[in-house]
Amino acid sequence: MSKFPKLFIPGPTHVSDDILDVLSTKQIGHRTPEISELIEYIVDGVKKVLYTSNNIYLVSHAATGLWEMGTKNSVKRGVLHCVNGAFSSKWALSSNQSGFNVASIEYKWGKGVNVKDIDKHLSTGKYDVLAMVHNETSTGVMSNLENISDLLKNKYPDVIWLVDAVSSMAGVKIEVDKLGIDFLLSSTQKAWGLPAGFSICSVSDKITTKSKTLINKGYFLDLEVYEKYYNKYQTPTTPSIPHMFAMKKVIEKIEKEGLENRWKRHIEMAKYTQQWAREHKQNLFPDSGCESYTLTCVKNIKGWDVNKMSDKLLEKGFRMDRGYGSLRGKVFRIPHMGNVYMEDLVEYLNLIDEVIS
Ligand code: PLP
Repeated sequence: MSKFPKLFIPGPTHVSDDILDVLSTKQIGHRTPEISELIEYIVDGVKKVLYTSNNIYLVSHAATGLWEMGTKNSVKRGVLHCVNGAFSSKWALSSNQSGFNVASIEYKWGKGVNVKDIDKHLSTGKYDVLAMVHNETSTGVMSNLENISDLLKNKYPDVIWLVDAVSSMAGVKIEVDKLGIDFLLSSTQKAWGLPAGFSICSVSDKITTKSKTLINKGYFLDLEVYEKYYNKYQTPTTPSIPHMFAMKKVIEKIEKEGLENRWKRHIEMAKYTQQWAREHKQNLFPDSGCESYTLTCVKNIKGWDVNKMSDKLLEKGFRMDRGYGSLRGKVFRIPHMGNVYMEDLVEYLNLIDEVIS
């Protein structure tokens, strides 16, 4: 068994050798023209991926910290959380523990976020912030952003919209400016296809302006501090410079692939995997119409022994997912994002076929 099986878990995802190579580039100083040039390149690239002219902040810690960056810089009256899986639930927990006035719209796992529920809660006027997860990695559910965008633009233009795109950014087309997302966040170990421990967010003028009216934000996650350094293409604290070299590399790869091709690749891989599951008489865990493009959560109605499958796949050099938390065994997830291309996916699904036969 390989000590380093190829990862087919929904994060950290497989990192290709060309990216691993650039992670060992020689270090540069974090207050130098060299780093500013590097950051400017990355920021311009991320802006293109997100179709935005918003500020892009590069952050040297996990995305969980960005949940709190989003809320600390925006919540005054209260924050409304849409909870439809493990990560959206944890984000609501983080807001509760930060002492905000918090309400959650709770959905059965497998369901997408519903715009009518959001409207009902926002109409009370109790919340000035809406927080949701675009792609619930725990359930493979991707929620529709367009109809929420329409609602907010038409009825609640002052509400700040925070979106976790940890497992969709760089794998799914998200047009930030068109949608009007104020704060979009992700870490790099999913569809960006880089190691974990580094994050990215896009930040609108609206949230930056709101942040300036808030007190007790601390220092580390304060958008005002980030803005000051961003204006020099620097970061407030010493960043993970290897991640920055890797970000540059992945942006070059994305440019070479072409954005539209990239979005299409992810959709095609999702459709292929869904079809594979159906052909095996398995169900999909998400409600119809909200299946993720970056991972497929298979509802294991055939009762396949996922532990045994996992052992066999490990022998063949692949690390499989056996389902998140309480769903373990009842579902299993097949990631198809970032550095996973159709041929990798086909190889993996063929191996599963071998193992289950
Ligand atoms: N949000 C979602 C949707 C996730 O899938 C994850 C991790 O899997 C996180 C947030 C947390 O990301 P991080 O581990 O980078 O804090």
